[in-house]
Amino acid sequence: MRHRRLPMPRHATALLAALCLCAGARADERPAVGIVDTHIDAPALLQSRWADLGADAPDREFDYPRARAGGLAVAFMSIYTSAEQDASGAATQAAHAQIDAVEALAARHPDKFALLRSPRDVERLRAGGRVLLPLGMENAAPIGDDLSRLRLFHDRGIRYVTLAHGAANRFADSSYDIEKKWGGLSPLGREAVAEMNRLGIMVDVSHLSDEAAAQAIELSRAPVIASHSSFRGLTPGFERNIGDALARRVAAKGGVVQVTFGTNFVEPEGAANLQALYRARNDFNKRNARRAAAGLPPEDRAAFEAEWRRTHPRVTTTIERVLDHIDYGVALLGVEHVGIGSDFDGVGGNLPRGLRSVADYPALIDGLRERGYAERDIARIAGGNLLRVWAQVEDAAERGGRDASGN
Ligand SMILES: [Zn+2]
Repeated sequence: MRHRRLPMPRHATALLAALCLCAGARADERPAVGIVDTHIDAPALLQSRWADLGADAPDREFDYPRARAGGLAVAFMSIYTSAEQDASGAATQAAHAQIDAVEALAARHPDKFALLRSPRDVERLRAGGRVLLPLGMENAAPIGDDLSRLRLFHDRGIRYVTLAHGAANRFADSSYDIEKKWGGLSPLGREAVAEMNRLGIMVDVSHLSDEAAAQAIELSRAPVIASHSSFRGLTPGFERNIGDALARRVAAKGGVVQVTFGTNFVEPEGAANLQALYRARNDFNKRNARRAAAGLPPEDRAAFEAEWRRTHPRVTTTIERVLDHIDYGVALLGVEHVGIGSDFDGVGGNLPRGLRSVADYPALIDGLRERGYAERDIARIAGGNLLRVWAQVEDAAERGGRDASGN
């Protein structure tokens, strides 16, 4: 496969070095690899069921002891809001409360966690074994109609924004939404991409419809990411995973596709069920809209969901399937354009055997070794690629700022 040579930002080599936990490794041992995971849904869970993630939290998939055991270096905390919170006007408040929760976690355990605002700070802040917590915003709903909030959330630490989630919003169409409202990005979505480029916020095309993702990639002045998407080539018909043509465009722009672990994202039968569920929910909503218009009471949503679960038992899979998606991405795009975005704490525990929490990354790394990947390439997939892209997005923002100020 074609192997692209990318211009490396000046500090990229230092970033790669920072990810290697070489100190302490005996000469006959392979160095451990520091993991960068772009999607962990811990913050929303803290809102509904608080736990101290600095100590053992057995009912979670992310806590400090297991993050350390798993070699997790940089854990993007997902600041997630739903289409329902968007509709009810609750999204902005919910995002701030989740960011507060991450700040509180880091403040409670300054020896274990630190917020991370720039890839340049990885080496310095990791000293002493800290797990670093940058923020990603899943669903641009908290921005509302006011793009100045992008700067506010950037100030609070948001470093990527997924423009939409499960339904079309003000900014973009969603892959899960059967009706495509905008035919891609809305005019506000286009402005948001430009503003994110100016601020140095990564544009995330996961969850977007194909048209919206293609337009965002085209518009962005900087590389883009798919923060948690696996490959549609292995799950035909599942639009939530990224198709080959779009993935190639992400790579051509210098970006990275972060393979996600959820069973329904990597196993074809699970993906087909999920795609069918979104279609069925769309039909359900339409039926209820018609009933409401006719003055009839709505069909019961809980009963619909329960019947779906009864007729579609959980699919299971193993870690090998996740490795298949990584292999597929590397063959399609080259090893410099694939990474990992687990979705731990975000898929209701529906994860492959052998890959069920942040303690399990070493099994993934061992799997890559067994499949013949060189250590240097494993370090890229494990996190080097994402840090390279993030640094390029920062550099593009700084250049844009200089251009705008006439320097
Ligand atoms: Zn998601």
